[in-house]
Amino acid sequence: MYNVIVVGAGPAGLSAARTAAEAGLKVALIDDQPRIGGQYFRHAGVKRIGGLLAPQFRRARYIDTSLSTLSRCGVKVLSEATVLDISADRTLTVAFRGSIAQLQGENVVIAAGARERIIPFPGWTTPGVIGAGAAQNLMKASGVLPGSRVVVVGANPLCLLAATSLLRCGAKIVAVCAPRRPRVTFNALLRLMRRPDIFLRGMTYLLMLRLYRVRMLSDYRVTDVIGDEKVAGVIMRRFREGLPPSEERLEVDLVVVNDGLLPNIELASRAGCEIEWEPSTSVWSPKRNADFETTVPCVYAVGDCVTASGAENSLLEGAIAATSIATSRGIADRGRLRQLSRLKWQWRRLQEFRSAVVELTVKESLDVRYLTDDTIVCRCEDVSLATIKDALGQDVQDLNALKAETRVCMGRCQGRTCMHTVLALLATAVGKEPDQFMPPVPRLPLRPVRVGDWLKKF
Ligand SMILES: Cc1cc2nc3c(=O)[nH]c(=O)nc-3n(C[C@H](O)[C@H](O)[C@H](O)COP(=O)(O)OP(=O)(O)OC[C@H]3O[C@@H](n4cnc5c(N)ncnc54)[C@H](O)[C@@H]3O)c2cc1C
Repeated sequence: MYNVIVVGAGPAGLSAARTAAEAGLKVALIDDQPRIGGQYFRHAGVKRIGGLLAPQFRRARYIDTSLSTLSRCGVKVLSEATVLDISADRTLTVAFRGSIAQLQGENVVIAAGARERIIPFPGWTTPGVIGAGAAQNLMKASGVLPGSRVVVVGANPLCLLAATSLLRCGAKIVAVCAPRRPRVTFNALLRLMRRPDIFLRGMTYLLMLRLYRVRMLSDYRVTDVIGDEKVAGVIMRRFREGLPPSEERLEVDLVVVNDGLLPNIELASRAGCEIEWEPSTSVWSPKRNADFETTVPCVYAVGDCVTASGAENSLLEGAIAATSIATSRGIADRGRLRQLSRLKWQWRRLQEFRSAVVELTVKESLDVRYLTDDTIVCRCEDVSLATIKDALGQDVQDLNALKAETRVCMGRCQGRTCMHTVLALLATAVGKEPDQFMPPVPRLPLRPVRVGDWLKKF
């Protein structure tokens, strides 16, 4: 029995584990990756890519200090261990080194991160179309430059970051395309000033794209990807109200795309936590109180698995949840209470900044007018838009019926990639809002596991 079990060793989980361990609690930290750090600290010490210096990919000092704190405080770190299930009594089923183990914690902190959201477009499954986060990971973790002539599609901070990383590593960015131009308001600018340091970082990305004379296109969408075996180019179409559409072909070998991040809510769902609709970013996320405890007592959710708000937010949330756990266990000296209120104050400031970023970020939503019937929606099971439209035309009214009819969301990823698109199509077909279609509680096991390993459990 641990005082605290933390699932996920990204910024949120690391910060929770460090803070809890430093308060004297018995902690276990579980992550399915071989190295701790999550998406943000996915550095493998890459120094050069294609002969160029890649300064931003040096291994972060935070990882080194975390590793020494975790070892000094006796934290049990399980890497390459996948949590397959959590029950409401905080028992975790974990696949680890060819067997299935069960761990129980007095408190569980879920810090499982988010995944990329990519809204389908014709040709999006062609090799050479990748997410902005995936591009970052290839460069940071493997030292691989994924393409040499690149178009970046999307208007959010991760797209800008990926564009500048690709530039620094020697790629040519042919264009950065957004579906619409953001409307900048004075009020949003004021809120951005809550964190001038992060705001300036964002500005340097934009400045760098300007210095390299990267074309910034707005009101453009990808209407086709050229190439079967791999990307050879894209057709972009400008859709601007009042103007006739104009078409342009870009010769590229890589399409980097991102329509935001989707919180990984599956663990919280399995634990029985209440899930609610977050209207500003149009995602489902676990409901929490001011200490980030979910509706299931002693189960906390922090970082991107609640709302994707960047590494700094994850670091703060992990520390707040762990400090709250320590205080609720009576480990509450004056210093710790002061620290908790300081962390919460910093977090509130960051939320104001974040609300402005969300407001200024161009949110793409599924619009079937821009899709062709042969556009693949569920890439695991190869289900096209036409197949889904056929089923919806036959009076299919809910997700289960649609799954049975077409096999959408039933492949290896269990709907993690296509569920949001499928629910949006379903909502449109039955004339409801997307928030009225809650994703179902996922089935056990949450991630693929070898049958032999699973059988050893019984
Ligand atoms: C693909 C991708 C790349 C990104 N790259 C960057 C970037 O380069 N720069 C940047 O500023 N932001 C990046 N982001 C945004 C990033 O999500 C946040 O900035 C930050 O990493 C969030 O921290 P976190 O701890 O909340 O989640 P994460 O960093 O995502 O950490 C979650 C961890 O939990 C683990 N996990 C999840 N489920 C389980 C399970 N069932 N069992 C065991 N372990 C599990 C994951 O493997 C991961 O290590 C990226 C996001 C994505 C999706």
